[in-house]
Amino acid sequence: MILMDGKSLSEKILDKVAERVKNLERIPHLAVILVGDDPASKIYVANKKKAAEKVGIKSTIIELPYETEEKYLLDKIEELNDDFDVTGILVQLPLPKHIDKNKVVTAISPKKDVDGFTPENVGKLAIGLEPYFYPATPQGIMMLLDEYGIEIEGKNAVIIGRSNIVGKPMAQMLLRRNATVTICHSYTKEIEEKIKTADILVSAVGKKIVRCKMGYKNSVVIDVGIHRDSYGKVTGDVDFDYVSPSCGYITPTPGGVGPMTIASLMYNASKIY
Ligand code: NAP
Repeated sequence: MILMDGKSLSEKILDKVAERVKNLERIPHLAVILVGDDPASKIYVANKKKAAEKVGIKSTIIELPYETEEKYLLDKIEELNDDFDVTGILVQLPLPKHIDKNKVVTAISPKKDVDGFTPENVGKLAIGLEPYFYPATPQGIMMLLDEYGIEIEGKNAVIIGRSNIVGKPMAQMLLRRNATVTICHSYTKEIEEKIKTADILVSAVGKKIVRCKMGYKNSVVIDVGIHRDSYGKVTGDVDFDYVSPSCGYITPTPGGVGPMTIASLMYNASKIY
C-alpha cells in the first residue's frame, strides 16, 4: 500500500506557483469575503491568506458582520469585479441563512472566480470547454492522482457525495479523463457493494462511511471528508486502519487532500485573466 502524500506534493506545487508569480507582470490579488464569525471559516480564511503570502500573492480579507444584507454583499462583489487590481474573488461558505448562496456565487465574475463555482465555469466544465478555473479540491485530487501515475481512462471511479464543491465537479473531471463514474449520496442503496467496484474511490461526506475492504488490491482511496471523532481528533471518511491493507494507494487525513486543496487554490489564484 502506498500512502499518497498530499503534504509534500502541495509544497512542491506551492514552490512552482511562487516561481510563476515572481515572473508575472503584475501581482495577483485575491479578495476573500468572510461573512459572520464562524470559527471554522475564520481558520480556513486565515490559512488561505497565509498560503497566499507564502507564494507572493497579495490577499485582502473583507470581514463583514453576520447581519450583512444580501444586497450589500452583492454590491461589494460588483465593486471587486470592477476593481482592476483584484484578480481573484472568493466568498467563504457557508453564508448566513438570510443570504442566497446561489445569487452570491453567480454575481462573481467568472474570470475572477478562483473557486470555479460560477455557472459559467461549472457549465464549461460540464460541456467539455475549458473553464477559467477548476474547483480547487477536485483539481488538487487530479494533481495527486497524476503525481502517483494513476491510470484513469477506462477505470471505475466511485464518488461518495454529490456537492457542488466536491462530488459533482470531481465526477465531471474524472469523466473528462474517460473514467466510468458512479456517484453515491444519502439515498444510494448498498454503498458497500458500489465501493467494492471502485478502482478509484473518492469519499466526500464528513462521516466515517468507508469501513469495508476494497474490491481490488490496486484500488486508490481518496479521503476528502473531514470531521472530528468523539475524542475531538480530526479524521476522515475512511477507516484507515481497516481499509488500507486492502488497497494499492490511500490518502491520509490529515496530510492528504487538505493541503492539496490549498495548493490548488493558490494555483488558481495565480492566474490572471
Ligand atoms: P456536503 O455539501 O455536506 O455534501 C455531503 C455529501 O455527502 C452529500 O452529497 C450527501 O448526500 C452525502 N452523504 C451524506 N450522508 C451520506 C451517507 N450516509 N451515505 C452516502 N452519502 C452521504 O459536503 P462537501 O462540501 O462536499 O464536503 C464533504 C466533506 O468533505 C466534509 O467533511 C468537508 O469538510 C470535506 N471537505 C474537505 C476538503 C479538503 O480540502 N479536505 C474540501 C472540501 C470539503 P445528499 O446530497 O443526498 O445529502
